[in-house]
Amino acid sequence: MSELFSVFLHLLLFELVAPVTFRHHRYDDLVRTLYKVHNECPQITRVYSVGRSVQGRHLYVLEISDYPGIHEPLEPEVKYVGNMHGNEVLGRELLLQLSEFLCEEFRNGNQRVARLVQDTRIHILPSMNPDGYEVAATQGPNSSGYLVGRNNANGVDLNRNFPDLNTYIYYNEKYGGPNHHLPLPDNWKSQVEPETQAVIQWMRSFNFVLSANLHGGAVVANYPYDKSLEHRVRGFRSTANSPTPDDKLFQKLAKVYSYAHGWMHQGWNCGDYFPDGITNGASWYSLSKGMQDFNYLHTNCFEITLELSCNKFPGQEELQREWLGNREALIQFLEQVHHGIKGMVLDENYNNLAGAVISVSGINHDVTSGDHGDYFRLLLPGTYIVTATAPGFDPETVSVTVGPGEPILVNFHLKRSMAPASPVRRAPSGGRRLRAKVQPRAARKKGTEMKQTPRGPA
Ligand SMILES: [Zn+2]
Repeated sequence: MSELFSVFLHLLLFELVAPVTFRHHRYDDLVRTLYKVHNECPQITRVYSVGRSVQGRHLYVLEISDYPGIHEPLEPEVKYVGNMHGNEVLGRELLLQLSEFLCEEFRNGNQRVARLVQDTRIHILPSMNPDGYEVAATQGPNSSGYLVGRNNANGVDLNRNFPDLNTYIYYNEKYGGPNHHLPLPDNWKSQVEPETQAVIQWMRSFNFVLSANLHGGAVVANYPYDKSLEHRVRGFRSTANSPTPDDKLFQKLAKVYSYAHGWMHQGWNCGDYFPDGITNGASWYSLSKGMQDFNYLHTNCFEITLELSCNKFPGQEELQREWLGNREALIQFLEQVHHGIKGMVLDENYNNLAGAVISVSGINHDVTSGDHGDYFRLLLPGTYIVTATAPGFDPETVSVTVGPGEPILVNFHLKRSMAPASPVRRAPSGGRRLRAKVQPRAARKKGTEMKQTPRGPA
């Protein structure tokens, strides 16, 4: 009798603490789940599509914020992208869990979640490669076909499909030129897959500040650059630590995830060892045309790549443990967007100045203000000299000390220059001219690109 009672109690408790179902979601199920979350939390969510896959499936995003559909000035935009490789499915499931978790905790009055939702605009794309996923899911979990469903329906690896801007940045670092917002090739749309094009247009239509791209096949937080400058080749791999000008910041972002994760920080996972559970992408192995480098070089967004499971398609019974191992890390990473400095760039009449350039001395990577004149610059604690410039205006420079907590508000009021706008004061815009010169080098370097490796994260 008492045993029966205990079973009953156990079932009751399980129902209470496990309101979400841990299962793999096929496309229709994924869409239903996103709309279910929206229906449960209509005031803080919105479902939208950024485009369609080769086979016509929508790339749905769930937005979570206090005013869905609206950019509030000084409220940063952050994104998560899952399942870019169709057979790496854990990220897809974790992002659905996260969506449901944020909604439910908001409704339950969880102060931490409420604050996150109020202060942040969160965009969640659970599957960037829904066609590949369906192929992998047909085969099922724990399958032996390591690469089945990895690519999109045209057989293209989406994380080798973004325009290669690294070649230009390495050239510019050496010979001068823009250190951020590198322009796209004129014919970029014809060079990329529909999923890549949709995601690039998405990146260009929101002023994202922070992002993570969720993969599987290892357990490590991987930060840019993914493409090495030197392409030193050891066997078929080429590896060389390739830090960005924001290297320390990227390392910290990666460590926030790995240390909040249940076991990533321990370093030994899947037969590999990564100190602190983090790695520079190119020092693991170099890859060209990846998404995280593109984020950094073409937009204001700082993206890292999270490798979350040894097994790319874990069994359903693994999902709850994985969610519990990742939940705190997924939340803490979102909270990282609230560091550094942010503010408005305005003219003397308090008009917003979009596209103003914010430079931090000592860090050769600028960011720009968004359409509303607001800017966000992630920084580690320290004292910085920060300059805002805009065409036709005098630059303004301030010194600011950043602490470990809340971002420091630094507004700029730029005065129109008295002299006719001189080229010196203009925001960097020489990309086009330079690109024409660099193009042949870029084409030649392509030959050094790495072939796809099954161990690949990204
Ligand atoms: Zn991957």
